Amino acid sequence: MDKRERRLGAKKFVLLHHSNCYRDSFHYRIDADGTLVHLTPDDVRSQHPNAIGVQLIGNFDHESVKPVQIQALKRLLLELKLRYPAVELGGHRQVRGDKTTTCPGRRFPMRALHEWAASNLLDERDDVLRDVIESQYRP
Ligand SMILES: [Zn+2]
Repeated sequence: MDKRERRLGAKKFVLLHHSNCYRDSFHYRIDADGTLVHLTPDDVRSQHPNAIGVQLIGNFDHESVKPVQIQALKRLLLELKLRYPAVELGGHRQVRGDKTTTCPGRRFPMRALHEWAASNLLDERDDVLRDVIESQYRP
């Protein structure tokens, strides 16, 4: 672990939230049109140590997450996975002590996202890393 990693904390958790959340400080926001807004530097502590809070705009107890939001979220998760290799994904309601909330919403596709994170995300990361390595050898 280098100095930077120690400062940032080795392990990062990405915690997902929706609009109907009683918490109010997040690192990233993904708007309904898929626009990603970086609100706070990743290493500024917000709600949990080593957690990066991502809020998707919408009330996903009642509506579905828009495909453009899922795409933006996947791009962000890939970026974070490259920056913090041990990063893990979770929904707000999975936090101990916050079990009464439904955040990020009953209709949020958490299971599908977990499955993506366990397979495709790693493949996509490997593709990026392979490109980076191969670019070092290009004449
Ligand atoms: Zn929340």
